[in-house]
Amino acid sequence: MFQGKPPVAEKSAAYPGERPVDLFERIGGFLRANKLDPTPINYDLAHQFFCSDDPNLVAAIDGAIRRDGLLRPEVAAEISQAASNQISSELLDQLLGRAHKNMTMAAGLVTQSTADVKAYGSALASGAGTMTKGGVPAQTALGLLVELTRTMIGKTQDAEAQLRSMGEQMASLRDDLAEAQATAESDPLTGLANRRAFQAKLLEAIEQAEAEGYPLSVAFCDIDHFKKINDTHGHDTGDRILKMFAEALSDGVGEDTLVGRFGGEEFLVLFDGIMARRAAMRVDEVRDELGNRSLVNRTTGEPMDVVTFSAGVAQLQPGEDSDALLKRADEALYKAKNAGRNRVLIAGDD
Ligand code: GH3
Ligand code: MG
Ligand code: MG
Repeated sequence: MFQGKPPVAEKSAAYPGERPVDLFERIGGFLRANKLDPTPINYDLAHQFFCSDDPNLVAAIDGAIRRDGLLRPEVAAEISQAASNQISSELLDQLLGRAHKNMTMAAGLVTQSTADVKAYGSALASGAGTMTKGGVPAQTALGLLVELTRTMIGKTQDAEAQLRSMGEQMASLRDDLAEAQATAESDPLTGLANRRAFQAKLLEAIEQAEAEGYPLSVAFCDIDHFKKINDTHGHDTGDRILKMFAEALSDGVGEDTLVGRFGGEEFLVLFDGIMARRAAMRVDEVRDELGNRSLVNRTTGEPMDVVTFSAGVAQLQPGEDSDALLKRADEALYKAKNAGRNRVLIAGDD
């Protein structure tokens, strides 16, 4: 069991023969040592840390502890989110296996059909030759040709049936791949683009905006005192607030935008073709609308405080890359927090 000092690079697999209660103790020790709340996500992360064979997850946790001295809650949430977005290696193996089987079948079918057509061609040619030379009675030769053609038609029908079945398998594989891709790109709680997908889209959008010379802005939004919401109403209610916030933001920021969950209670909006001032107005409208909602804790029926958020907006500058743009938006968000929260500030406006 870990006591006091956080577990840096400790053995990460469950010990062979370990009793479940010992694993439970170790998970508890891990949460205590890292001052993490005993939320389902944190339990799950600790369990994965000790029991999963995902080296990325273990390395991410070890690295965070080395860097910060302990696993900070927002980093834990980030690691947990990244892990839940990964396509499992079993699923990937299964999809690749199905694709490989289909390709092998297709290749086999093509080879077989080519050989059949070739054999049919030579049989026809030799049958026709025999008939013209008059070696075999025409009746017999014609009978042979009819038989050959019948066989060939049968083979063609078999090949067609196989092709149809392969087509169906390919279509189902394509759907499963599309689903796996959507899972890998979306945040499981809110359904929004996850951090990785958002950043990929942002890179593309920046390239295009720079090439075509139109404006692009991003907004970094962070729910105010979210920890207090969790502490007061519980983690499940916190999750519901995150979903509600995601929906309010997506509905409110309007067209030509992409909303993503950056991690924890932090969200990003990409405003393609929109200047910072306009983007900030749209975000402020969401802030205003959210502030007018009366919320009730569904579990206890008690009224809840209004949910507010702060945001920093930055517009792409010539030659700027995505990291620099996000950093400026984050700095504006930081200023919005320091100025008393529940406000939207534009980078460079001070
Ligand atoms: P501030 O106004 O300065 O932003 O304060 P805050 O309390 O919102 O920020 P802080 O970073 O201290 O706390 C964020 C909390 O969000 C901590 C973490 O436990 C919680 N959190 C992160 N991800 C999730 C999640 O998926 N669900 C829930 N319910 N809570 C989460
Ligand atoms: Mg916050
Ligand atoms: Mg935050």
